Amino acid sequence: MSVDAARKPLPAPDPDTARLWEGLRQGKLLLQHCDDCKHVQYYQQALCRACGSENLTHRPASGHGKVHSFSVVHRAPGPAFKADVPYAVLLVELQEGPRMISTYVGGNPAEVTFDMDVTLVCEQVSDEITLPRFRRAG
Ligand SMILES: [Zn+2]
Repeated sequence: MSVDAARKPLPAPDPDTARLWEGLRQGKLLLQHCDDCKHVQYYQQALCRACGSENLTHRPASGHGKVHSFSVVHRAPGPAFKADVPYAVLLVELQEGPRMISTYVGGNPAEVTFDMDVTLVCEQVSDEITLPRFRRAG
């Protein structure tokens, strides 16, 4: 097994997402709030996806959300993930509205259910990258 195959692919921050990664390093999940139409988005970009406005303000999410959908992964997508299976991939609906893909931590993936309340966990995986994960709320 090569060293690269054993290493998990990590997101590469770019100018559009630099603020998001900086926030996560400080334990905050920053959402973009449109000052013009009040749309809230998680996937960071220069324009509001609802109205095209450039007037976006970053605000930290409450960290509360619900499991909108999920899938339990039993077969590792690569050698780097072998120790992690089974794990649950979540589509979390944040309290603020946006949905984001994440993974479940801190419990057995078999306990994940639709509409389960979850809380943000910022998990540092390298000096540069801290990933937003979710655990069961409460
Ligand atoms: Zn807008």
